[in-house]
Amino acid sequence: MTYTPERPLRVGIVGAGPAGFFAADALIKQDVPVSVDLFDRLPTPFGLVRYGVAPDHQKIKSVTRLYQKTLDDPRVRFFGHVSYGQDLTLTELRRFYDAIIYTVGAPSDRPLGIPGETLTGSISATEFVAWYNGHPDYAELSPELSMGSVAVVGMGNVAVDVTRILAKTADELLQTDIADHAVEALRHSQVRDIYMLGRRGPAQGKFTTKELRELGELTNADVVVDPADMELDPISEASLAEDPMVAKNIEVLREFSVRAQTGRPRRVHIKFLSSPVAVLGDTKVEGLRVEKNELRDRGGVLAAVGTGETEVLPVGLVLRSVGYRGVALPGVPFDEKRSVIPNERGRVTASAGGTVVPGEYVAGWIKRGPTGVIGTNKADAAESVRCLLEDAPGLARVVDTDAAPESVERFLEAKGVQFFSFDHWLELDALELEAGRAQGRPRVKLTRVEEMLRRNRVT
Ligand SMILES: Cc1cc2nc3c(=O)[nH]c(=O)nc-3n(C[C@H](O)[C@H](O)[C@H](O)COP(=O)(O)OP(=O)(O)OC[C@H]3O[C@@H](n4cnc5c(N)ncnc54)[C@H](O)[C@@H]3O)c2cc1C
Repeated sequence: MTYTPERPLRVGIVGAGPAGFFAADALIKQDVPVSVDLFDRLPTPFGLVRYGVAPDHQKIKSVTRLYQKTLDDPRVRFFGHVSYGQDLTLTELRRFYDAIIYTVGAPSDRPLGIPGETLTGSISATEFVAWYNGHPDYAELSPELSMGSVAVVGMGNVAVDVTRILAKTADELLQTDIADHAVEALRHSQVRDIYMLGRRGPAQGKFTTKELRELGELTNADVVVDPADMELDPISEASLAEDPMVAKNIEVLREFSVRAQTGRPRRVHIKFLSSPVAVLGDTKVEGLRVEKNELRDRGGVLAAVGTGETEVLPVGLVLRSVGYRGVALPGVPFDEKRSVIPNERGRVTASAGGTVVPGEYVAGWIKRGPTGVIGTNKADAAESVRCLLEDAPGLARVVDTDAAPESVERFLEAKGVQFFSFDHWLELDALELEAGRAQGRPRVKLTRVEEMLRRNRVT
């Protein structure tokens, strides 16, 4: 069956983060006539580029200009504030679209699985990041910043971001688009010591060198690394020759470990070979028991094994940063083991390795798990779109009247869903940028959905 400009292939994309935008872009950059609707549960587009990427890394956020261009194309529409599962069900989507692509990301986190993890003051980096970036779901978070110490569990770039934000001064943060509520809370922060904990050694840190270096450039904090942690075992030593990034990380960390302390107000302790074993306290966090590990060779892979030697860090806040996690969507297959939508090169399957579900595709973190940078989602989405286009001639087409672009709009209006269009977003964007200009900041974010809708006269 062929598609024409009058009756294009109708694709509904659920999730307007990087994967959703890269998928939309791949669809409009090929020859089959298409029309694409991008849905997001939030009024604002761009997913983790707006709500994950650190506010002091503005350059990275400039990728949104490309996404905005995609939305400028008349074949692509944005429907913000439409939540799949709530405002739009699978049956409803199937009525309007010949094909659906799920690009909902991985919004949850992995637990540590240790006692005391649910005490007040023990939260995920996912929540903390969303809070300081002004995600509307986390505007009320109020993390505990009145104690002198914080533990950040994890050694990836997210852990580094969180550590850096905790270490910076309010004046430094005020040069960014960090949420106003976060900068106010951080201005009154009593935190002096930030412990970043990794269960394995320095050669196994998951951070990239650029991000690591930034910890050594903080104006408000000294960085502390125990020189003893920098004595590498033979396997770690050998990995330096194999992986240039590991070698660079070690070079930076060795320099940190011999630095003299300069008495800056805060200290960032990068502690390797340290596993949290219990969060301590009655109702709220009063400390974190940490066990010293040693590395053992398990068939060429280094495993961290507890030595039994423990210490208690006197922290009032524990931020776990050991990975994001996908969440099941109603009616869509889910692989509980990997927390992804099972798929074959982007074609949704009924189970891992199971039969293909016709007309349903997946891209981004919910397809492959929470790994990779923004750019990784481009090739990933392109692969899914290639499969979709291969399948397109054989897909069950929705009836032509329902495929008309105005049908879904009318349907949402009749259902009372107050969707946020691209024009609404442009107005909100202009408003935030203008407020930013007045304060010498990149933007000042609105952080409440009701306010976004009210300011744009959607309500
Ligand atoms: C803290 C952090 C910092 C990062 N920093 C960088 C960085 O500096 N540089 C870099 O290159 N990469 C960075 N990344 C990685 C990058 O953000 C991801 O690779 C990318 O965002 C994944 O894209 P995605 O589209 O799969 O998911 P997301 O970006 O999470 O987008 C998913 C979208 O789906 C929407 N959605 C979810 N559920 C529904 C639903 N039911 N209905 C409708 N919509 C829904 C969400 O609101 C969201 O907008 C960072 C990631 C994190 C977590």
